[in-house]
Amino acid sequence: MNIKVFDTTLRDGEQTPGVSLTTNEKFRIASKLDEIGIDYIEAGSAITSEGERQSIKEITNQNFSAEILSFSRPLAVDIDYCIDCDVDGVNLVVPTSDLHINEKLKTNRENLLELSNNAIDYCKDHGLIVELSAEDATRSDFDFLKTVYLSGIEHGADRICVCDTVGILTPDSSFELFDKLNDIDVPIACHCHNDFGLAVANTLSAIKGGASEIHTTINGIGERAGNTSFEESVVSIYRLLPQFTTNIKINEIYDISKLVARLTGVYIQPNKAIVGENAFAHESGIHSDGIIKNSATYEPMTPELVGRKRKFVIGKHMGTHGLNSRLKELGLEVDNSQLQQICDNIKVLADKGKTVTDVDLQVIADNVLEINHEDRIKLDEVTIVSGNKVMPTASVKITIDDEQILNAGVGLGPVDAAINAIKSLDIFKDIDLIEYHVDAITGGTDAFIDVIIKLQKGDKVVSARGTEPDIINASVKAYIAGVNRLLRG
Ligand code: MN
Repeated sequence: MNIKVFDTTLRDGEQTPGVSLTTNEKFRIASKLDEIGIDYIEAGSAITSEGERQSIKEITNQNFSAEILSFSRPLAVDIDYCIDCDVDGVNLVVPTSDLHINEKLKTNRENLLELSNNAIDYCKDHGLIVELSAEDATRSDFDFLKTVYLSGIEHGADRICVCDTVGILTPDSSFELFDKLNDIDVPIACHCHNDFGLAVANTLSAIKGGASEIHTTINGIGERAGNTSFEESVVSIYRLLPQFTTNIKINEIYDISKLVARLTGVYIQPNKAIVGENAFAHESGIHSDGIIKNSATYEPMTPELVGRKRKFVIGKHMGTHGLNSRLKELGLEVDNSQLQQICDNIKVLADKGKTVTDVDLQVIADNVLEINHEDRIKLDEVTIVSGNKVMPTASVKITIDDEQILNAGVGLGPVDAAINAIKSLDIFKDIDLIEYHVDAITGGTDAFIDVIIKLQKGDKVVSARGTEPDIINASVKAYIAGVNRLLRG
């Protein structure tokens, strides 16, 4: 059976405290959602603001394959704004628990039912698809909940949705509830929240109980502890519930996860399933050795399945097998005794409590292999003009293969200007800066600044570091060190 995915990243996800997306950002996320195979996209809530309506209109203008919906209360004013945005349908959210009906809406069940039915009539008169979502359904009187659904379906609701608004279902109660609603003959969706960390588990149970549609957000973002995570539920369906399918292109999951993390500023915990930094990382020697022999030993799925790569992390638990793969990735061939020596040196560093980075590994390997590099590029001087009234401008003097060159550049900030002044020179073309991290090592404004960068040229990727009291010097130093490493061939 095919399970439809309803994405609410742009509505419930945007209700994450501190998150607000621009029209352009919403559009980029919607395009990717459509591309990855999402069936229904809730693009926002049309009543919210002019900007929100602008965003929804941009999305409805695009002829996406996904059905585009707006959130709506059961009120004509909301529905009118949805119509104005030219959506295909509405997620019509009707509170059904006495707590919400009496305390929030200050009304009663009878009026609520009428409100819901009238709203559905109004939507259907205007040609809208209606997904009737019962808010706080899981704390509602079951008979009343069912009355709202059945009566809504009589009025033309196309699908219904059970909202576990405060996340109080368990896998057992979720299964029971959906099983009890199984005689309803329109598609039933589940909308779960993660207050007890059970949203994905409850969603899977809902599917087994008869739900044929799931509401999710990318990375599980949303109010409070968030919503059902898209990536976890889709991959779980694929691997753990093989009798069900979705229309999602699973190997693009990591891309959309990164995009949403970047645009919302809500970054992912390293140990998050599927998309966390460590989800396919191995440090322990026993595990790395097993993985290299047969990845199924310590991985329930391959990283490629979700568009990722396996990573061997350098550290004191590491064995020589993992280390050797890591060195090969860095383009370094070593014999057994060199490998053992590098491994020992890393453990000495790790025992001092230091995180061993790729940069450290390269330095340790260079020392063991007695590689002495003559750097082709040397920085002689960098001068910056910056302030709140001028465009940051940098001039640099560098020596490339014994020839001194003077160059200048501008940028958004002083670091950008300095890097631009350097990289506009011919020798730097085809080199891309793919990562840039800044850390202040000590607390105050006099702190040493640690800059770690990653550069790419063709297939080759290197890391480099610069540590200086001055952020510009640190950045330029890291950049030039990285380029020198890349140019070593
Ligand atoms: Mn919600």
